[in-house]
Amino acid sequence: GAERTKTVLILMSDTGGGHRASAEAIKDTFNLEFGDEYRIIVKDVWKEYTGWPLNDMENQYKFMVKHVQLWNVAFHSTSPRWIHSLYLAAIAAFYAKEVEAGLMEYKPDIIISVHPLMQHIPLWVLKWQGLQKKVIFVTVITDLSTCHRTWFHPGVNRLYCPSEEVAKRSLLDGLEESQIRVFGLPIRPSFCRAVLLKDDLRVELEMDPELPAVLLMGGGEGMGPVKKTAKALGESLFDEEQRKPIGQLIIICGRNENLANTLKSLDWKIPVKVRGFETQMVKWMGASDCIITKAGPGTITEALIRGLPIILNDYIPGQEKGNVPYVVDNGAGVFTRSPKETARIVAEWFTTKSDELKKMSDNALKLAQPDAVFDIVKDIHDLACQRGPLSNIPYMLTSSFSELI
Ligand code: UDP
Repeated sequence: GAERTKTVLILMSDTGGGHRASAEAIKDTFNLEFGDEYRIIVKDVWKEYTGWPLNDMENQYKFMVKHVQLWNVAFHSTSPRWIHSLYLAAIAAFYAKEVEAGLMEYKPDIIISVHPLMQHIPLWVLKWQGLQKKVIFVTVITDLSTCHRTWFHPGVNRLYCPSEEVAKRSLLDGLEESQIRVFGLPIRPSFCRAVLLKDDLRVELEMDPELPAVLLMGGGEGMGPVKKTAKALGESLFDEEQRKPIGQLIIICGRNENLANTLKSLDWKIPVKVRGFETQMVKWMGASDCIITKAGPGTITEALIRGLPIILNDYIPGQEKGNVPYVVDNGAGVFTRSPKETARIVAEWFTTKSDELKKMSDNALKLAQPDAVFDIVKDIHDLACQRGPLSNIPYMLTSSFSELI
């Protein structure tokens, strides 16, 4: 018979910008490469199908990152496997029913998790339904290095790791080499494949055509020392002797409207653009010469693809910490928490140390993995093909897993 359209369910949660960005990247790539062969559903499962605390994960996350020490404790204290298993078991007892209902509604042939807390429960449900051999379950890790152990579940068909270091850690948690692929972090295909000229972008974005540009941001939520750094750059990028700017500054505040409003109300001696949440990051990065950001995996990976040297000025304790050595040890950037130091480095890169800027840009391009999302989607497609002609997967509506526990 004719090939049936296969359903792919991508499980994510809208914490920060990263997980959604990875989910959308995978979805776009499936559509681009395979068209109608796959129906892709991106679901924030927790938000739609579960009660407190999981439906409030987004707000809890925002609260936690504002109180970083608390996040730090939570991250490390839930790391031993027995603690997170108990915690997840308790959650599962309350919420498995809702997760199960979600799986029943979409009857996915393939499940892709891009979230650290979305392996155990769906895999338990599949096992209970006797579907773990029929449904393909893969995890795509979206943290570059020190990721939480809940990402690792030996029951997956594939684990896609962004770096060798993550792959090594997963081996310690019982995964087999044969389950693991290291392709890189998935970034939207429109970003990876964009061919854009800096001069054209500068015209389109109404930037100064000549002055070197530094892009300052703090993830989707506009976090980190953005304001202090902007002010310091406003001074360091102005040559007092010649009374003229030596660079221009782009500040992207994401969803942090307070920050954008504050920065817009300031007086500047250099050309500055203050923006809110931008949907065309590829253009702003393409028009810039370096970037200052907290150590978010999405922003780092995108900056590497565009060959932007990176100044990391902050990280969320726990999962973002390892992103710092990933950038610094590979010679693609530097780490400093000091806004003054950051401002000084950029001023040097734009004047006396342009060689260093060029070298770091080359290193960034070497580290970049623009094909990662294509490799991941192709590999999932290959897995689906190996299953042979897919028949309807017998998701049952009776004998529910959640009634058992
Ligand atoms: N981003 C965006 N527009 C903005 C700010 C950020 O599209 O105005 C994107 C950015 O390009 C990246 C993601 O949001 O893809 C941020 O992810 P990251 O992992 O860096 O940090 P998070 O916000 O998840 O902590």
